[in-house]
Amino acid sequence: MKELVNSSCSESPSKKKKDVGKHRVSGFDPKWMETFQWLLRTSAGMVCTVCRKHLVGAARAHPFVNEPSINYRLDAVSRHEKSSSHISCIEKEQTLRTGKTLPKIVCERADIEHWALEGCFRLMYQMLRQEVPHHTNYKGFLELMEDCGCKYFEALRVDSNTNYCSHRIIDELLAIINDSVLQPLLIDLQKSRAWSILIDESTDISVTQELAICVMFLNQHSKVETTFLDMVPVTNGKGETVTDAILQLLQRHDLSMKNLRSIASDGA
Ligand SMILES: [Zn+2]
Repeated sequence: MKELVNSSCSESPSKKKKDVGKHRVSGFDPKWMETFQWLLRTSAGMVCTVCRKHLVGAARAHPFVNEPSINYRLDAVSRHEKSSSHISCIEKEQTLRTGKTLPKIVCERADIEHWALEGCFRLMYQMLRQEVPHHTNYKGFLELMEDCGCKYFEALRVDSNTNYCSHRIIDELLAIINDSVLQPLLIDLQKSRAWSILIDESTDISVTQELAICVMFLNQHSKVETTFLDMVPVTNGKGETVTDAILQLLQRHDLSMKNLRSIASDGA
C-alpha cells in the first residue's frame, strides 16, 4: 500500500548511481517497499512508519525517524530493521494490533494474496480521491471489479465470516492510507522554515462541531504549499476551546511551534 500511495503521489523513481569507493551500487530500490513493510519513501528520504509511531522524545533523533535517511543502501535499511529500538517498536505495534487485523496481515505477510490486498488499497484510495461514500459503496465496487475480470479478489473471501468488506476493515484501510499520506506532510512541516495554521469551524452530518485545520508552509524548494491537515471535534467555538484543540493537535502530530508563524481563522 505504501508503494501504492507513493506511486499515486507520482514520486519520481530514484536514479541509481555508483557508490564512491567500494563495489556497491546505491540508490533507492522500489523492491525494498515489499521487503520492508515499515519503509516509507518521502521527498526528504526514507522513514520507518512504525518507529515514527512508537518512539518518543530523544529516541526519535535517529535516521528513519525524525531525520529521514538518505543513505539509500540495502545494508543501511537492513541495519535499521535489526536495531533493538526498531524491533521493540514492531513488538509494540503487534501488541497494539492483536487479533486478525489488516496491519498484522500486512506486517506478517499472512495468507492473503498480495495483489488482492493491493487492489483493496487502490480501490479505497481512488474512492477517497473521488469523494465516493466508502462504507456504503466499497463492497459493490469490489464486486464490480471482480466481475470485470479482477479474479484475484477471490482471495479476499477466506470464509463465510471473513471477506474483507466489513466496516472495521474499511476503517483500517482508511487509517493506513491516512498514515501513509500524513507522514510525508508532517516531515515537510517539521523541516519547514515557516508555516501557518488556517482553521475554520464546520458541522458534520451527525451535527458534531468540528475544526477543519489546514496548513500553509514553505516547502524545501521554497515554494508555498497549502494543504489539509486534520479535522478536530470541538464542543464549542470559544477561543479557549479552539486553542486547546490546536495545542493537542500539535502534540499529537509531534509538531513544534518553533517555526509556526501565524494562525488564521475566519472569525479572527
Ligand atoms: Zn523502525
